[in-house]
Amino acid sequence: MMGPWQTGNNSVAIFGKIICQKLKEPIEQSVYKKIARDLANEMISNCESLNGNRSNLEKHILKTLAEEEDFDKYMIYIHNPRDHFKSFIRDEVSRYITDKFSVRVLPKMKENIKLLQQKIMKAAHESTEHVQVNSGDVGLWLKSFTQQLSDELIFSEKDLSGVKHDDVDDFNLLEDAVIKELPAIMSEISSRFNTKTFSLNLDNKDRPDELLIDHFCQCCWVQCPFCKAICTNTIENHHGDHSVPFHHINGIDGCFYRGTTNVSINICTSSVASDQSFYPIDLDDAVLWKEYRRAGGVYAQWSITADLSELPYWKWFVCRFQEDLETYYNKTFEGNGKIPDEWRKYSKQDAIESLDQYI
Ligand SMILES: [Zn+2]
Ligand SMILES: [Zn+2]
Repeated sequence: MMGPWQTGNNSVAIFGKIICQKLKEPIEQSVYKKIARDLANEMISNCESLNGNRSNLEKHILKTLAEEEDFDKYMIYIHNPRDHFKSFIRDEVSRYITDKFSVRVLPKMKENIKLLQQKIMKAAHESTEHVQVNSGDVGLWLKSFTQQLSDELIFSEKDLSGVKHDDVDDFNLLEDAVIKELPAIMSEISSRFNTKTFSLNLDNKDRPDELLIDHFCQCCWVQCPFCKAICTNTIENHHGDHSVPFHHINGIDGCFYRGTTNVSINICTSSVASDQSFYPIDLDDAVLWKEYRRAGGVYAQWSITADLSELPYWKWFVCRFQEDLETYYNKTFEGNGKIPDEWRKYSKQDAIESLDQYI
């Protein structure tokens, strides 16, 4: 036989090689799992939209919606807010990865793989010492080796069952074989890192976007029964009623004036300060806005405080998308629902800037 190994040592070298081959997949999994966590943490500290609480995220979502002027996306935000939040987070993550792949993602993965390589080499070395001190066999070597790597790699002695190795008794040679083979395995894994496959190789559970979705979506998602504004309480601080600092214009979720086809331009926080009344869903009797809780059910679970300061954002929105809203709900902004002229003076820029009051 050619090669540096004597016949007897050949099986040790082959066994070392097999160990490294079997480590390939666990190493790859571990590297992707680690980078997913690293990226999620990095984005929480570096990305404007993600470096605060959910209200800050919502502010960025509304800003982006205004910039894109995409009515369909607005309707998802209004009617399925959680879906819109999720897709916004996914877009942020995918843009970050695309923009920063070579400057942040790749170097970090290479650094992680280097650390992992050192850890595996150390585990091989310490297993050799452990077996020599205890006059153990290859079984003990493997046990010690896999145990040392158990925090990082999903790998056990079982992965080597079926591979003959009872005759391995030179542990220095085994250690050398592993150390010799490892760099090739690591560069093979590294060579597969690229923007195209990155996202595909992430595990479904351990993806930066899923980690961030978990982080931001553990909140109350109950929406105001009048305007669909989302309660801003977190699960931890939610002791009583739902509440939100800024309500929308009621018409954006299709509310209208009873007996007409006119979209409602009321804003909950102004309405509760007025002498007007509303008709709760499924009830025939009007209830005064001031006493909205008397409508019971979902209405009684909200705390809506009178506040006459109104966000220009939603005023700009109904002016900009008046026709789309009219078509979407098959109603018109007429009669009581006529849009006041002063709302039309707000520019998109005014709308976006008004979001700074948001948090
Ligand atoms: Zn409301
Ligand atoms: Zn709530």
